[in-house]
Amino acid sequence: MSGRSWLIRGGTLLPMDPAAPEGVGDVLVQDGRIAAVGAVPALPPGTQVLDAEGCVVMPGLVQGHVHLCQTLCRGQADDLPLLEWLRRRVWPYEAALCERSIAAAARLGCAELLLSGTTAILDMGTVHHQDALSAAVAATGMRAVLGKAMMDFGEDPTIPPGLRETTAASLTESDALARRWHGAAEGRLRYAYAPRFALSCTETLLREVAERVEASGPAGPRLHTHAAEQREEVDLVRVRFGADNITALSRLGVAGPKVVLAHCVHVDEAQRALIAAGGSHVAHCPSSNLKLGSGLAPICEMLDLGINVALGADGAPCNNNLDAMLELRLSALLQKGRLGPQALPARRALQLATVGGARALGLSDETGALRPGLRADIVILDPRAPHALPFADPCSLVVYALRGGDVRDVLVDGRLLVRDRALTEQTGLVDREALLAEAGEQARRVALRADI
Ligand SMILES: [Zn+2]
Repeated sequence: MSGRSWLIRGGTLLPMDPAAPEGVGDVLVQDGRIAAVGAVPALPPGTQVLDAEGCVVMPGLVQGHVHLCQTLCRGQADDLPLLEWLRRRVWPYEAALCERSIAAAARLGCAELLLSGTTAILDMGTVHHQDALSAAVAATGMRAVLGKAMMDFGEDPTIPPGLRETTAASLTESDALARRWHGAAEGRLRYAYAPRFALSCTETLLREVAERVEASGPAGPRLHTHAAEQREEVDLVRVRFGADNITALSRLGVAGPKVVLAHCVHVDEAQRALIAAGGSHVAHCPSSNLKLGSGLAPICEMLDLGINVALGADGAPCNNNLDAMLELRLSALLQKGRLGPQALPARRALQLATVGGARALGLSDETGALRPGLRADIVILDPRAPHALPFADPCSLVVYALRGGDVRDVLVDGRLLVRDRALTEQTGLVDREALLAEAGEQARRVALRADI
């Protein structure tokens, strides 16, 4: 099983696991799993050595909210508030996607994510072409929990016909996708039912999805939706459902430890208490919340209540970057701006991007830390650069000083997907020029079809 057995030697370890040693040490990977952290006993035969001296070795970053399908819309939807952004740009763009363009979007997004240290994502697709998207992600070697967007309601005439579906069709297709993709690619892929947001879904659909997810048990598909992102959206939810967003979702069963709520910017004390009581996870997307002018999420208040929070870059049209290192830095700085310099210290922020993400994805037993038995999803960061040295605390270094471009090597499942800042053969993305040319060509065609 060579190729998935490594000794990562002599790096500064940031295991994100209270039981594991920090400081300089080794990580032993055997057949795709972490076998030892810190002091490594005798080296088993067939183990390749990765020298990490002078580098930081930590778990791969886990993002709790991404839209790979939107990557080709980067830079085409700037300076708009959420609902205008959806109506004028993102919905027409998504409706114009085809199998080839959604695969190109996914490959471009995965390339960006891997090169900047993200090894696992929770992704929301669009209404159609989910098989093409899932297959493209599987081929890159990334770990992903993904699902097609569900949109069976909308009096809004701006929703393109291509994104309107019946309740029955949405459920039937999602069920079939869950059967095909949950546990696919040697277990690297899982499924999440993804009702887009309360305003795009019938109560029947939300209730049915919640029941399916609940009935499938802890290891079954998850539920991923947007909630309480922006004021106008929250007001419309209140008019339609007669309740605040979290209350409305909770009444329909959309709450619990298998539910991930993206954003939760506008959640008052009562709504936060409701999230905490139900055990749902929150995916915090600071760049997206700022760029769409949605607001500042009360992350520290949610953490104080014991709510699990993950970080996410959201999509390329609202960020316009999928680099988790930017979200990491911004998440910490924004809370300090709100509450003072002691809010969300570097180590706590890094927990959101690793163990917090893994919990949200339901993958705590697979990824998010350097711990023997977990899958070898590992990043090696090289701080030997003017913007990073000197450093005293590796958490501070990673959160405040390093950037995605400082990621040197990335392993997922013990496979080396990034080596010396370049994608390897194992990703199927090694031809950089071809990747960029196809993405550019498909982006042009989609924009023409969408007339944006
Ligand atoms: Zn989103």
